[in-house]
Amino acid sequence: MHYDFNAPRPSAPDAMLANPSAIAPASQAQTVLVVEDDPLNRKLFCELLKARGYDVIGASDGLAGLAACRTYAPDLVLLDVQLPGLGGVEVAQAITDAPDAPSILAVSAFAAGADCARLRAAGCADCLAKPVAIAELLERAEDLLAEQSA
Ligand code: MN
Repeated sequence: MHYDFNAPRPSAPDAMLANPSAIAPASQAQTVLVVEDDPLNRKLFCELLKARGYDVIGASDGLAGLAACRTYAPDLVLLDVQLPGLGGVEVAQAITDAPDAPSILAVSAFAAGADCARLRAAGCADCLAKPVAIAELLERAEDLLAEQSA
């Protein structure tokens, strides 16, 4: 019987690198939390982001959004500002107070100006005014998600 200790053997790390899907968790997709009280807008934003390959969670008010943020630790929060109960500014402040906070893309019903300044001061990374152009919404969201994964 002969055993050659110098014979090349497949190394586990190389084998895994050659086939990353073999070791990948079930979903490697980034997660987006959509906090929006309008059911049609919420469904639209969720479907658009799902179609781009993200894992998406919807929340219909500020408190549910905060709870979902703590539970799912999303990479991005798409945050409507006019919400029943806890408003978007308060939600943004609460989210960004926590360590490892996700980026927040705020969607405000008021034209850019003062409202966006308030939202940025509350920790939002970016701000869009309603009505939002879908292409722009997705572009801003993907920019922030790319920053999160960098
Ligand atoms: Mn709203």
